[in-house]
Amino acid sequence: KLLNDLFDLKGNIRVFCRIRPIIIGNQKSVEALDSNEMIINLVDNKSKIYSFDKVFHPSSSQGEVFSEIEPIIKSALDGYNACIFAYGQTGTGKTFTMEGTEEFPGVVPRAIEALFKHAADSNHAFLFSFSMLEIYMGYLKDLLTPHSQTTKSIFPLPPCLSIQTHPNGETEIENLVTIQVNDMNQAMRLYKLGCGFRSTASTNSNRTSSRSHCMIRISISSVSASKRRRLTNKLWLVDLGGSERVLKTKALGRRFEEGKAINLSLSSLGDVIHALQSKKRHIPYRNSKLTQVLKDSLGKHAS
Ligand code: ADP
Ligand code: MG
Repeated sequence: KLLNDLFDLKGNIRVFCRIRPIIIGNQKSVEALDSNEMIINLVDNKSKIYSFDKVFHPSSSQGEVFSEIEPIIKSALDGYNACIFAYGQTGTGKTFTMEGTEEFPGVVPRAIEALFKHAADSNHAFLFSFSMLEIYMGYLKDLLTPHSQTTKSIFPLPPCLSIQTHPNGETEIENLVTIQVNDMNQAMRLYKLGCGFRSTASTNSNRTSSRSHCMIRISISSVSASKRRRLTNKLWLVDLGGSERVLKTKALGRRFEEGKAINLSLSSLGDVIHALQSKKRHIPYRNSKLTQVLKDSLGKHAS
């Protein structure tokens, strides 16, 4: 449903499709037609064509993907709130795209590098702060605090962070660790620390990671030399939970509950985007923790 909503979107929201290389077998169910369209070949010889702002081929590099993301990073430095999401089923390459590997760094390390590079080239002074959290079954878990380590046995869940809305409309996550970073290396160290605290860190399967949203928040304060006025905005980099339908996966028990939580938050995100796009008066942010956290970063003045 989110995907369907996204197809209708234009303007502030850009949707890119990245086709992952085939890992096993030789079935080509998805192919790029050109740089804007891709085709899904269905089992019964039917096919469906979808268009995007950009389609990346299986051979597209991390750098090519990032070249489409970089303008969003620049708009974050221009004072806009911005969110970058990786959406798709488990195994489709969301984490590869966002995090990447040592050899093939993804969007997050490249975004961090670009922020500091463009900030250095600008005639504004910037302050950056870094936070990282995970949303798992409706709970917000700080990824920069050591107590996250104790949550490998997921229940009982750690103290859940709560979300507050300030009178000025800004969303604040109470007690979320937020650390000022003065250069790229400091930010990268925190990022790696946070990745280590993800629920999966010590397990081999990516079971829990596929059932949680991993969210990085970079707060950007800019002080203009002349006006001495400080503006703060946010850049969110989000590796969403797997979009597979829980009923189709035949999951039971905890897995079923996890899947329901992910499906619910992804559909809430779709509803919010849809409501924003059709300029509805009521935007249903309250239906999930994901949309509550992002409330002030989706919508007006956001990119
Ligand atoms: P997801 O996070 O969506 O569940 P992953 O990012 O973990 O998926 O990708 C699944 C596997 O496919 C991983 O082993 C990953 O390294 C590999 N992979 C995904 N996308 C690409 C790509 N564009 N090029 C090479 N390998 C990829
Ligand atoms: Mg993943």
